[in-house]
Parts: sequence; structure tokens; C-alpha cells
Amino acid sequence: MSDCLFCKIAAGDIPSSKVYEDDSYVAFNDIAPQAPTHILVIPRRHIAGISDMADDDSALVGGLFSVAKKVCAQKGITDYRLVINNGAGAGQSVFHLHLHILAGREMGWPPG
Ligand code: AMP
Repeated sequence: MSDCLFCKIAAGDIPSSKVYEDDSYVAFNDIAPQAPTHILVIPRRHIAGISDMADDDSALVGGLFSVAKKVCAQKGITDYRLVINNGAGAGQSVFHLHLHILAGREMGWPPG
């Protein structure tokens, strides 16, 4: 989508601190980290959020978790939290699906 921030990051039109990329996914450091490690994993293809997934997007969405596992393994991170905010009321502020990887500090429960 032409006016989507994360589509522009995936395309390289807006700079980001990338930690991983392949044909389908990009992972980059969050610009306002909420933990010592805070990485976002996105599909290159624009999906606004989990509510906007089609049934045949299951593999693409599942792949976000595979990338998260790979990135954490490469960094030697064993304990981490994965978060997807869906909808503004749940804290979603960028409407291009993304998986947060948070690590490097104690994680409280329930999350705020
Ligand atoms: P959410 O609130 O779940 O939609 O998460 C959006 C995340 O994108 C937030 O954690 C922001 O800090 C992060 N963010 C916004 N703009 C950028 C950017 N240009 N580069 C990296 N992360 C960003």
C-alpha cells in the first residue's frame, strides 16, 4: 500500500535498522523500544491486521513466528515475548500486520 509506513520500510523507501529479511518477511528494530530487545517482524505483503487475514493467509502469518524464532536463535535469545496488537483499542498504531519480539527484561503479567 503506497501510504503504509511498514510497506515503505519493507521496500527500503524509509530507513530502518533491519535484522533479517527474505522474500516474504522483514524484521527490524522498533524505533521506540519497550525492552532491551524490541524487534518487529512484518510480512512484505500488506495485511492490515489479524482481523484482515484471509483463510489462506495462515501460512504467511505463521511464518512471522518462524522468523521470530530464527532471529532470536541467531541472537542467542532464549526467553522472549511475542505480541500482536489487533485494533486501536488493543494498542495497534500501525495498520500493517507486525509481530513484536520483546526480550532482555522481566516481563510482567498481565501485560498492560
Ligand atoms: P503497534 O502499536 O502494535 O501498532 O506497534 C507499532 C510499532 O511500530 C510501535 O512499537 C512503534 O514504536 C513502531 N514504529 C513506528 N514507526 C516506526 C519506524 N519508523 N521504525 C521502526 N519502528 C516503528
